[in-house]
Amino acid sequence: MTAFKKTDTLRDVLTLLDKEGAALGHFNVADQVLLKAVVAAGADTKLPVFIGASEGEREFFGTRQLASLVKSLRQESDLPLFLNADHTHSLAKAVEAAKAGFDSVVIDFSALPFEENVARTKEAVQAIKAINPAIIAEGEIGNIGTGSEIHETAQGDRTLSTPEEARQFVEATGIDVLAPAVGNMHGMLQSMVQGKAKKHLDIERIAEIKKAAGVFLTLHGGSGTDDEDFRKAIAAGINVIHINTELRVAWRESLGESLARNPNEVVPYKILRPVVDAVKQVVSSRLRLFHSEAVGSSAVGSVA
Ligand SMILES: [Zn+2]
Repeated sequence: MTAFKKTDTLRDVLTLLDKEGAALGHFNVADQVLLKAVVAAGADTKLPVFIGASEGEREFFGTRQLASLVKSLRQESDLPLFLNADHTHSLAKAVEAAKAGFDSVVIDFSALPFEENVARTKEAVQAIKAINPAIIAEGEIGNIGTGSEIHETAQGDRTLSTPEEARQFVEATGIDVLAPAVGNMHGMLQSMVQGKAKKHLDIERIAEIKKAAGVFLTLHGGSGTDDEDFRKAIAAGINVIHINTELRVAWRESLGESLARNPNEVVPYKILRPVVDAVKQVVSSRLRLFHSEAVGSSAVGSVA
């Protein structure tokens, strides 16, 4: 396995992983417990991590405060750590994240008609690259639902992105990374949380889109996806995989258990330590899976 250097840029790491047949794990954080867990999992597995925060998560954490904290963690880390402004729905919020020092911005106007999505994404790409020419801009096409939470029923129209619209969108907007709809969906169904059902991906469509788009590809809504589908999706061209709901489920369940185990405990770091561990386990196992097929990756080949 290639040794990662902390000075590697996000583009360096994506290029390297693309060659090796591995994907960068992206994990959302809404508080410092989640952030600690993600960074610790990266250190344990010796793999780079992509820390993400949506608009809601940024608002709760503080956009600039999260950027400062990640900058500080990066100084102490031997591995590359990156920060992503996930699902950003306005030019103002994209600019705010770029100014705060985020490594990348997910510009998400996918709810708008295609032409309008193109126009507004292009405008945001130009604005953030004017602030930081090295910033990575991601754009979104198609419907993959909203909300990394537990849904009662499957949502969205499940229409997959086509290679032609992917090619057009990349050419017209100047994005570095594309997030297509390929059978993925935000959130999890109750049956997926219980492990009784898995999400499945259209692997052939991923390969076609990769060829047509010619840029890095992100898979959103990875929680609850079949392990084998993940491996095949990476081989077909997926470069970044987002996991959020699985972390939130681990966070909530372990917090409930910790509180129930020690009803009189009031020391926050004693209550929260098992929560960090529980989330870290989920992140580590996902990281190992995303790197399990990497060329020469025997060191991380087994999913613990
Ligand atoms: Zn997403």
